[in-house]
Amino acid sequence: TGRFEGLRVLVAGAGVSGRSAAEALLAAGASVTVSDASSDRLVALASLQAQGAELVPGLTEPPEGTDLVVTSPGWRPESPLLAATVAAGVELIGEVELAWRLDQEKANEPADSTGRPAGPATWLAVTGTNGKTTTVGMLESILRADGVDVVACGNVGLPVVDAVRAGHRVLAVELSSFQLHWSQTVAPHASVVLNLAADHLDWHGSLDAYGAAKARVYAGNSVAVHNADDEWSVRLADAGAPQQARRVSFTLSDPAPGVLGVESGALVDRAFGDRVRLAAVADVHPAGPHNVANALAAASLARAYGVEPEAVAEGLRSFQPGAHRSVVVAESAGVSYVDDSKATNPHAADAALRAHPKVVWIAGGLLKGADVEDLVAANAARLAGVVLIGRDRARFAEALARHAPDVPVREVESGDDAGMLAAVRLAGEFAEPGCAVVLAPAAASMDMFTDYAHRGRAFADAVRDVLSGAVAPA
Ligand code: ADP
Repeated sequence: TGRFEGLRVLVAGAGVSGRSAAEALLAAGASVTVSDASSDRLVALASLQAQGAELVPGLTEPPEGTDLVVTSPGWRPESPLLAATVAAGVELIGEVELAWRLDQEKANEPADSTGRPAGPATWLAVTGTNGKTTTVGMLESILRADGVDVVACGNVGLPVVDAVRAGHRVLAVELSSFQLHWSQTVAPHASVVLNLAADHLDWHGSLDAYGAAKARVYAGNSVAVHNADDEWSVRLADAGAPQQARRVSFTLSDPAPGVLGVESGALVDRAFGDRVRLAAVADVHPAGPHNVANALAAASLARAYGVEPEAVAEGLRSFQPGAHRSVVVAESAGVSYVDDSKATNPHAADAALRAHPKVVWIAGGLLKGADVEDLVAANAARLAGVVLIGRDRARFAEALARHAPDVPVREVESGDDAGMLAAVRLAGEFAEPGCAVVLAPAAASMDMFTDYAHRGRAFADAVRDVLSGAVAPA
């Protein structure tokens, strides 16, 4: 019997990962209670009741006799239920930690009749402020090109618990800082911190606390990969990687021995081979230096697992980029229209803008405590015009007045889809042939939209309407 048999477990949060955690715990023989502040969300889990789960709305402390609490990643440590859990001395973990523990139990299982090798999967983990989903997707694609039984999971959408229960041999795991915060014993085979910049500081409290959560990804690694071009990545690998781990890094420059980098238009591996050519820079898409960095990170993890060099090129070519990440939604009269709605913080917007020589920039939204001063100063020279949307647009306007006083700026007052239509019409006034109109808000979207995807769709729709002449230009 497993270690969860007979345990009394409370699952805090009835979202996607909460449901998977509850199902896995029931299957493992635990007695399960699920609580959520919203009874509506609990209703979606009604089917679990037939399997014996108890659904209780609004718990503020774990029920008497609770052995373990599994929390949803986004819950704040100081929320009443979690604070009461810690005060009561009850163990508190996240869904990823649960997945790790369930996976490690497979070490004790005999080989099954299908001939599938028993035992835990190999975990390859990716974290960082920006580029996680892209890198995990590239990694999955590279491993598949090599014939590996792999699945992308974690923050990308598929709960890690589900990936473990499905029995895949390799997990390409995207981990957010929240998930890492609740992962106490997770020890991937190889990991990378892509980069670190101010984001989610409202949750973590400080950049140091945010960094400390990210550094946890290196715990127990055999191969610890860092980004040599990112100071924080270097620092966190130094702090988090075990002493006996093999240290590997990547850079957009010429690689030194032990490093993966870029040489004469190619991705070159000088760590897991003697100057092995992995792929052409042109194999990387969407184009842009940040995606070359993501590709090098994915290649580092794939090579740490032992894939052949040819699989890297093939995997990068067949990789399907995610929606709203530097996607060209239209081209007209020499102007391209780029949806990078996923640029929800200044560091991401910086990458999105740098991919183009001349830009009409649509920016603004909820800044989550971030600062746009450096972003505006670094990109002032490429701006042909700026249209500001969203709640914190005055912060952008002030920075633009300081660092780009000659760049024309317009502001849109109204919200949602109509606001985006107005923004695209105004952007059209500034656009000249050779320009890219780039939606890279550098901010969260929830002041105007449901989420970044809604914002991206509103942009694509507005571009279509303006270009088709369905609405008059501004
Ligand atoms: P995440 O999963 O970390 O949010 P994504 O791969 O979804 O990252 O990319 C989100 C956005 O971040 C992209 O649309 C792009 O604007 C930006 N971005 C992607 N990779 C990088 C990188 N390596 N460095 C900086 N910004 C990046």
